[in-house]
Amino acid sequence: MIRQFELVERVKAYDPSADEDALNRAYVFAIKMHGSQLRASGDPYFSHPIEVAGILTNYRLDCASIITALLHDTIEDTHATLGDVEKMFGAEIARLVDGVTKLSRIELQQSDQSKQAENFRKLVLAMSEDIRVLLVKLADRVHNMRTLHYIDNPDKRRRIALETMEIYAPLAERIGMQELKFELEDLAFGELHPEARGSIMARLDFLREQGGDLVTRILTQLRQTLADAGVTATVSGREKTPYSIWRKMQTKNVGFEQLSDIMAFRVVVGSIEDCYRALGTIHSRYPMVPNRFKDYISTPKPNGYRSLHTGVFGPERHRIEVQIRTQEMHEVGELGVAAHWKYKQGGHTTDGRQYRWLRELLDILEHASNPEEFLEHTKLEMFQDQVFCFTPKGDLIALPRGSCPVDFAYAVHSEVGDACVGAKVNGRMLPLRTALNNGDQVEIITSKAQTPSPTWERFVVTGKARARIRRFVRMQARVQYLDLGRTILQKAFKTEGYDYTEKGLEAVLKVFKASGVDELCVSVGEGVLTGREVVAAVYPELKTPPKTDNVVPLKTRRPGKGRDHAVPIRGLIPGMAMHFAGCCHPLPGDRIVGIVVTGKGVTIHTIDCETLEQYVDSPERWLDLTWDSEVEGEAPVGRISVVVLNEPGSLGSLSTVIAKNMGNINNLKITNRTTEFFEMLIDIEVRDVKHLTNIIAALRATPAINSVERARN
Ligand code: MN
Repeated sequence: MIRQFELVERVKAYDPSADEDALNRAYVFAIKMHGSQLRASGDPYFSHPIEVAGILTNYRLDCASIITALLHDTIEDTHATLGDVEKMFGAEIARLVDGVTKLSRIELQQSDQSKQAENFRKLVLAMSEDIRVLLVKLADRVHNMRTLHYIDNPDKRRRIALETMEIYAPLAERIGMQELKFELEDLAFGELHPEARGSIMARLDFLREQGGDLVTRILTQLRQTLADAGVTATVSGREKTPYSIWRKMQTKNVGFEQLSDIMAFRVVVGSIEDCYRALGTIHSRYPMVPNRFKDYISTPKPNGYRSLHTGVFGPERHRIEVQIRTQEMHEVGELGVAAHWKYKQGGHTTDGRQYRWLRELLDILEHASNPEEFLEHTKLEMFQDQVFCFTPKGDLIALPRGSCPVDFAYAVHSEVGDACVGAKVNGRMLPLRTALNNGDQVEIITSKAQTPSPTWERFVVTGKARARIRRFVRMQARVQYLDLGRTILQKAFKTEGYDYTEKGLEAVLKVFKASGVDELCVSVGEGVLTGREVVAAVYPELKTPPKTDNVVPLKTRRPGKGRDHAVPIRGLIPGMAMHFAGCCHPLPGDRIVGIVVTGKGVTIHTIDCETLEQYVDSPERWLDLTWDSEVEGEAPVGRISVVVLNEPGSLGSLSTVIAKNMGNINNLKITNRTTEFFEMLIDIEVRDVKHLTNIIAALRATPAINSVERARN
């Protein structure tokens, strides 16, 4: 374990301006917080964060990252809170520690790993927000992998190794940290395929024995070749890692016997020109292996990696791989994104193009006003437009940003979406319209009695959810129009003194170009046809205009008249065959009348609504309605107009009175405001007209309220 002064010295060596005091406090805090906790290895737990910090000093990370590494497990595993960390180390450290803590809660599930791996990688990136969070997490993973063999439970070891292989090693590669990637991969490989790794190691031993010190001999010859050509270069050689050999065996479909290029050599030179000169020298001296040459200098990898790669039949006719690069390219290749701190501190002057991506990243880190902006600008983050959520079983569901539990439900399965009534997000019941966040665990509560609500369409984001809701609404509307149309026809026949029969309707289908009785009823329900038109077609002698006593002028229309063939209304849902008029806000208990509006079905008004005067001349549009005893669907909304004293607390007492009387304020609009009074319109969700009357009475009894009326246009 690195001792306190050692760690501080290491950081100070590359960053003389590091906050020594904060480093010391973080070191002590970690030891104090983890106290007597032990690792699986039997070591004190605090050795882990200290080792993680040590790993990061190899990458010369900034002081904040090192402190974050020291504190990274305190929130999750000790009684320390984020507030404690913020108080002691400031907002920046707290934000970073919080980021690492959140990342640590993500666990790759055993099921379907490969399918979900890419989503998990995106999730980790999206949640990292600050690149340093990811760097600390990667170092954490390196140390956990180094000590993986101490864990007894083989399933747990395997899960962690899989996660490392599928999530963290590719992430390390994506941000250009080759060295870290190789280590993670090789450690995971040893856990996942111990036999394969063992046999590769054995074969390497054998080759080593047979060839004597082959790497050294080849190195000497390569150096000589380059020196002869006048190229100044540092040449190093190594065997490839067992995992990269194994990968090659898999992808190239060659057995180990044929796999001879197990050695890789690196030529580091002073300039780009020297890279190509070294390449020319090597190619002219040794035969090139076809299809192995790659020029990542003229075309860098997306993560900024630059180098020349080639394969040749080198000294002693051994196939070798050679990478040629400048010193700067080398450091970027090994350290990736972490290299930039070094250059930030070292004050190296970097030549124009070579470090462009690094300098850009540095600029963004320093100037971006918020994590979103940073993410938007880095190639790292292409997933800002997505959120990643979990099912209770741990499956990952990727959704567009802004998605709500209904989107989630439909993404799980159409039937889950259709039946969803509520959602628990991270264990808490939340409204279905709540926007989901990265990492949320969403449990959808379903009911067989539920059907999709048209109101969902206002807040869903995904095309799938929208399409299903629309489809259902269309189907549902058709059923309602059909019912309504049939009722209207039955009434129309009765009014004219005939019996309603489907047979009679069948006879006139052609006249209306309808394909069947149902379609005819739907047309009537939608108001495209009137009941009387249909009756007149069935009984052609009924050519005379409607008898005057059929016209029921508004003034003479009395509540209760024609109640016997009134249509009960139920299941009112906005946008469907029947809906409330916006002008008079009918409530259950009000006397009501329906007006058939072409293409829109029936609009329900209170019987004294002024709008009805427009329809006095078209009695065929009128429809007697009664409230069904059990009105389902959306809560009805009553509108009241209130005058409130303009003084402190009066608005508060207004809403308190409404809430106490079980009303739910839906909308509130101030229509006039003077020094003495507020005038406002309030929409309240109520059960029925009696409920609204109670609320009005309670409001009138409130001192701060001057007057209350039910609002009618
Ligand atoms: Mn840890």
